Amino acid sequence: MEKAVLITIGDEILSGNTVDTNSNFIATELKNIGIQVTQIFTISDEIGTIKNTLKAAFEIGDLIITTGGLGPTRDDKTKKALAEYFNDEIALDEVTFNHLKNYMERRGRTDILERNREQAFVPTKSVVFQNHFGTAPCMMMEQDGKLCFSLPGVPYEVKPLIRDQIVPYLKEKFNLYYIYTRIVSVVGIPESILADTIEDWELALPENLSLSYLPVGTRVKLRLTASGDDESALKKQAEDEIQKLLPLVKDHVIAVTEDKIEKILAEILMERNLTISTAESCTGGELAKMITSTAGSSKYFIAGIIPYATEKKIEILKVSKETVDEFTVVSEQVASEMAKGCQRLFDTDISLSTTGVAGPGKGEDGNEVGTVFYSIRIKDQEVTSKLYMPHLDRLDFMNFVSQKIIQDLV
Ligand code: ATP
Ligand code: MG
Repeated sequence: MEKAVLITIGDEILSGNTVDTNSNFIATELKNIGIQVTQIFTISDEIGTIKNTLKAAFEIGDLIITTGGLGPTRDDKTKKALAEYFNDEIALDEVTFNHLKNYMERRGRTDILERNREQAFVPTKSVVFQNHFGTAPCMMMEQDGKLCFSLPGVPYEVKPLIRDQIVPYLKEKFNLYYIYTRIVSVVGIPESILADTIEDWELALPENLSLSYLPVGTRVKLRLTASGDDESALKKQAEDEIQKLLPLVKDHVIAVTEDKIEKILAEILMERNLTISTAESCTGGELAKMITSTAGSSKYFIAGIIPYATEKKIEILKVSKETVDEFTVVSEQVASEMAKGCQRLFDTDISLSTTGVAGPGKGEDGNEVGTVFYSIRIKDQEVTSKLYMPHLDRLDFMNFVSQKIIQDLV
């Protein structure tokens, strides 16, 4: 498997002003074509540092991708570092300049500043991949059969460059593999017994298929990964193996899906024809967002509300004021009444509720930050649980709690 090294360049990432989302995106795209990212460097916009990091990266990987520092401003130094590192000159590239002029004209800009023209200057040895969503081109350099791509930093420019140009190029160049993954989720069978049950099947798997066990709570997810150069043959091969596996674990299977928990939820709800609604306080809509992030969710997700203020929990969800006074608003009892109210209001089979303190700072009733009560109500059955996650920041807390609820539900 080819190895890649990513270098994200930018003082704004080191200072904490920008979260590096490019690496995450690029690593995922590369993984999908069988290229493994083995190291990610985040460095400053400094010529010496960029050159040193390129040197280190070439020692580790077959492929290097840098993002950032290609803009028209003085703080962007990547291009100069590239030219110096590869012992090259920077010169105007006519094709890139024409592309740039067209790009700017389409946006009503006919006055091309010197600063913009400079963006069409590239190292003479580079191969240019034109940027259709910005002014800085992507440049590819080669050293001893290894490749280095330099991309701008803006994520909406990075994504199409990677997806539409670089990934197809790499696939062709390296004769790359496709990867196809399926997850079979099973419950009610301990991992060791499961392993025994499917041992013969597992041992007989073709060489290009691999299986991993991922225990999640009371479930075990079996992840089957197939890799090869013929995408449709691969899918068929994996699906055939799944069909052999299913009878072995038949009573325990709850879903056959892709990786995400919300997808597992979607399959279960659709299969059983169930509807769902949410009443969220401390998760602020994150739970509904997660559920609706799956295509087709309109078939089961009916509505969600965020009655953040206590009065609204009382007014809309008919949580009783006495309950709030007696137990405080962050309590098992309130979570339970919220779920009941939500189910009634939206007339759904399932309702989910959250009430807690996402922080920072204590809740008004002295509840500790990181405390949440959530209820899962299915028809007339209900389970209310408490979580205490004081170490998470606000957004991570909302995300974690929402994930946990969906996980409990499936
Ligand atoms: P531009 O031509 O827009 O100037 P550039 O190559 O100079 O592109 P930068 O100036 O480094 O890129 O970054 C441009 C924008 O992209 C900045 O707003 C920055 O916050 C964002 N950005 C840069 N690197 C990353 C990254 N790794 N992840 C997410 N956003 C990033
Ligand atoms: Mg910049």
